[in-house]
Amino acid sequence: MGLLDGQTAIITGAASMKGLGKATAQLFAEHGCRVAILDLEAAQAEDAAANIGDGHVGLACDVTRKADCEAAVAAVLEAFGQIDILVNNAGITQPLRIMDIKHENYDAVLDVNLLGTLNMSQAVIPHMRDRRSGKLINMSSVSAQRGGGIFGGPHYSAAKAGVLGLTKAMARELAPDGIRANAICPGFIATDITQGKLTPEMKEKILAGIPMGRAGEASDVAGCALFLASDLSAYVTGSEVDVNGGSLIH
Ligand code: NAD
Repeated sequence: MGLLDGQTAIITGAASMKGLGKATAQLFAEHGCRVAILDLEAAQAEDAAANIGDGHVGLACDVTRKADCEAAVAAVLEAFGQIDILVNNAGITQPLRIMDIKHENYDAVLDVNLLGTLNMSQAVIPHMRDRRSGKLINMSSVSAQRGGGIFGGPHYSAAKAGVLGLTKAMARELAPDGIRANAICPGFIATDITQGKLTPEMKEKILAGIPMGRAGEASDVAGCALFLASDLSAYVTGSEVDVNGGSLIH
């Protein structure tokens, strides 16, 4: 028996094969969930959906565009009939220092990470409210909590801190409607998000700050997402869950 039998989920930014969204989609599927994988390119989203098994769908959706999010939700409702879980996972980062952040860097990073989370949430909330049930899971970062120091610049920390605030405010407002909202704060996880810009020296420095002495695996984050998506966390809302090997013990 799966923890998500009979449920359906939307996971944004889940086509990246080594990414956190894809690993989460895989684990949700193993637990009986039908998954809609959303990403920038339809072909990649469809491939990723086929890769996790039968009965899942892949759709193109740029989360920075409200109309894309609304169209994707309509398509998923057509395919699955209901949406129980939304994982706002799509994100980008840039390793810039404070004085190097240009307006276009700020817009790019804030738009995908923060506006994208708001857009997708607004697109599913009316449906979840009608059903008086739903789980929102937002991907923040340890960078939000400790002011960077991993890879992303200050604008990334700000965007992910914004995701924490948005998550908590949604949890408060939506609790009477039976909708839970929680954030995951991953530490350093080996994925393609660094786009080849992580040098061996940067990696060594990051690893030195992790008490568990290793980078996280995408599956480490997926396990936390499964907990937050399932009834195991029925009384958990407005929380930020650390998945960081001890990088932020406080
Ligand atoms: P990734 O680069 O492997 O995957 C991100 C996916 O998001 C890609 O498939 C990309 O195409 C997609 N995407 C980008 N812009 C998009 C848009 N506008 N609309 C829809 N999709 C879009 O990254 P990842 O490491 O799997 O990261 C997943 C999430 O976890 C991100 O929000 C990231 O900020 C967060 N995170 C990652 C780490 C880490 O160490 N890897 C740590 C903390 C937080």
